[in-house]
Amino acid sequence: MKIPFNRPFTIGAELENIQEAVRGGHLSGDGQFTKKCHRWLEERLGTKRALLTHSCTAALEMAAILCDLEPGDEVIMPSFTFVSTANAFVLRGAVPVFVDIRPDTLNLDEKLVAGAVTERTRAIVPVHYAGVACEMDALMAFAATRNLIVVEDAAQGVLAEYKGRKLGAIGHLGCLSFHETKNVISGEGGALLVNDERLVARAEIIREKGTNRSQFFRGEVDKYSWVDVGSSYLPSELVGAFLWAQLGQAGEINARRLQLCAAYRGRLAPLAERGVLELPQREPAHVSANGHMFYILLKDAATRMALIAHLKSRGIHAVFHYVPLHSSPAGRRFGRAAGPMTVTEDVSERLLRLPLYFDLEERNVGEIVAAIGDFFGASDVPRSS
Ligand SMILES: *Cc1c(COP(=O)(O)O)cnc(C)c1O
Repeated sequence: MKIPFNRPFTIGAELENIQEAVRGGHLSGDGQFTKKCHRWLEERLGTKRALLTHSCTAALEMAAILCDLEPGDEVIMPSFTFVSTANAFVLRGAVPVFVDIRPDTLNLDEKLVAGAVTERTRAIVPVHYAGVACEMDALMAFAATRNLIVVEDAAQGVLAEYKGRKLGAIGHLGCLSFHETKNVISGEGGALLVNDERLVARAEIIREKGTNRSQFFRGEVDKYSWVDVGSSYLPSELVGAFLWAQLGQAGEINARRLQLCAAYRGRLAPLAERGVLELPQREPAHVSANGHMFYILLKDAATRMALIAHLKSRGIHAVFHYVPLHSSPAGRRFGRAAGPMTVTEDVSERLLRLPLYFDLEERNVGEIVAAIGDFFGASDVPRSS
């Protein structure tokens, strides 16, 4: 493909940091680079404890363990999300209860949450789609009345904000992703943000195979042993070394992506005015986004399929997602829909994500929009700048 959907990038000292880690003689978890990443996340996002993990999937699994669920307990989440949001809880024997999304932000519709609650409900998992915040005040207030744990799936939300607070640092727990398709990357990678102080000690133990090894290294206990359930959730220092270079430039990375989103929006405006496609709605004023994604909505699934093929013939890779979890084979087996999934079903058939990555150039955005214009037979779409 001439223009791939995503392309991983380096922005600074990634490779030097990796060399330094190798020379430093510590490549397993929690070395100097990992510790720097932890401190950066704690200071910049405002969380009690940040812990790097292998992935956001791993962070969600840790969060699910921390929720202390019994088989049959229920967890409320959108159906319009990545499989890991649900899988992490299904692995604990819990039942995902799927709620429809809002048509403007494509986020969990907070007004539908109360209607999905039963006596088995233990947690709510808001997913900040495209790095645009869910209505956290309403969700946190409701959760407090029912004693529910809120786990933010902030995989797409690094440094994005809700009322001045960073996504992932608002709920009891938050999960970030540094997968190569996200804004800040380390290949595979993620972080668990432990915002509730009461969960910090256990989170460290779960991440260290159920041992109190972290306390041992801090000199808080004189030997370490198996004290709880757990697994190996800490990444190699190679991951921390790579990530440390990216975190230092996270603001620049997001600014670049926001610029590309604005370029898409501006160039696609004539087509939106003609009514052949819809642009993402502008985010509410109390929310600040991070340019994670740019998508368009087509008239129907057939138009989307034809446009994907047309773009592919021009060497441009555009992708769609998600197959709604409530209607997927595992979602039907392990979870249930709390009500009609009208918006989820509509959007998942019509949404198309356009290429967006740090090294994408405005010239490329021009080419992509011109190809979309050709598809719709438009002559009024400006070509390259
Ligand atoms: C990417 C993503 C994940 C999974 O992240 P990994 O780091 O690949 O495990 C989970 N939830 C959402 C909403 C995502 O976009």
